[in-house]
Amino acid sequence: MEELQTAWKRVLSQIELQVSKPTFKTWFAGTVLLEKENGLVKVGVPSHFVREWLQNKFNLLLLRIVRELYDDVKSIEYSVLSHDGTSGKKRFLPSSVKLSPQLNIDVFEIDPETNLNPRYRFDNFVVGGNNELAFAASQAVVQKPALKYNPLFLYGGVGLGKTHLLEATGNEVVKQNSRARKVKYITSEKFTNELVNALKNHQVDEFKTRFREVDVFILDDVQFMSGKDKSQEELFHTFNTLYERNKQIIFSSDRPPSLISDIEDRLRSRFEGGVVVDITAPDFETRLAILKLKTQEKGVDINQRILEVVAQKIQKNIRELEGILNQLVLRYTKNKKITLDEVESVLKDYASQLYKSITPKQVLQVVCSFYEIADKDLLGKKRKKELVKPRQIVMYLLRDLAKMSYPSIGEKLGSRDHTTVIYSCEKIEREVKANQTLFKEIEILKERISHS
Ligand code: ADP
Ligand code: MG
Repeated sequence: MEELQTAWKRVLSQIELQVSKPTFKTWFAGTVLLEKENGLVKVGVPSHFVREWLQNKFNLLLLRIVRELYDDVKSIEYSVLSHDGTSGKKRFLPSSVKLSPQLNIDVFEIDPETNLNPRYRFDNFVVGGNNELAFAASQAVVQKPALKYNPLFLYGGVGLGKTHLLEATGNEVVKQNSRARKVKYITSEKFTNELVNALKNHQVDEFKTRFREVDVFILDDVQFMSGKDKSQEELFHTFNTLYERNKQIIFSSDRPPSLISDIEDRLRSRFEGGVVVDITAPDFETRLAILKLKTQEKGVDINQRILEVVAQKIQKNIRELEGILNQLVLRYTKNKKITLDEVESVLKDYASQLYKSITPKQVLQVVCSFYEIADKDLLGKKRKKELVKPRQIVMYLLRDLAKMSYPSIGEKLGSRDHTTVIYSCEKIEREVKANQTLFKEIEILKERISHS
């Protein structure tokens, strides 16, 4: 629930950029996200009047922005909230709105058999120095599944195209074999949830066969398996069965197998047993090529100079690159042109928004969960090595992201002296420059915090 509300806050802050202040206050301020299920998003609104307006005037805008966050969403329903903030069941009038065809928002149906989203293809994946090995390995898998790279393990930071490549591989296998080869894609989170349900409902056998009788098994974001013993065990057996039957397995993760903590060694060694390839941040040319491809897909003609400015500014996350482009496209469709000033202002808003609302609590939560320590230990006085480093990293991040002063950081972290804080911040700052692994860890943490 909390996650939905954070997501909704992000949607609203995007909308705020697109509409005037009074419009925002009148129509959007009192809305809440009630539910997201099966491609349907339910939004609670304060009155019937607001419902009519959102539905008739802003549905497309909302849908577009919601889809930046959840690309499986197909429609939005608005329901009037009763005074206690719940949706009043009696007055609830579902009102899914059909997309108007001339606005050409691509709505992709996820294939229920494979779980693949047809939007991810090889031909709309831009290949650059950052991902060419990963791309080549994926293509080799399509040509000769289970022969060369098995398993294929792709890793890289958030929004760098792992899911895209994984799903494109699955889609291509299906296409080239006219469905004769069975493919199954699933995120590790879903795998875990479905296993829990299967255990609860005594349907474990059904669960097992579902994943063991496929030709290509694709598991996204395996770092999620960390600490989930039952899922790891099930995955281990699934892996072995598939591998023995000479079936292809593909994994992705936000970090290399060696850095996934709390994972059984036997599973880690399976991850490492085939080929491990990383995807890094794209260089300028690749970013520009991606922007060009996306503008073509959307059928708009945005000036190259403008795309260059965007490609220069947004360097680390392709999802964010797309987010900015979507905002520009929205402006473009409204006014049929776009100026450099407007681009600058969109970029500025974006930069100030990214870390604007970061709270110390978020930093603490993300770091504790990353290093798998309890926050009371982090705040405590124990000087164990496993605690000292995360503690120093928290101080560094509070300074760097939340712009807190040294004394207030000290206070936040269990009344530590501000000289300790200075020492820690400077130490991490130095080490980040010298130590590539630490640099990567901090990058991952920052990304997580900005999305938490
Ligand atoms: P990850 O799974 O690594 O977090 P995604 O695969 O979800 O990242 O990519 C984020 C967005 O960026 C997606 O919309 C994807 O289509 C797009 N994207 C990433 N890499 C590329 C690329 N090389 N070419 C085109 N689009 C890309
Ligand atoms: Mg992904």
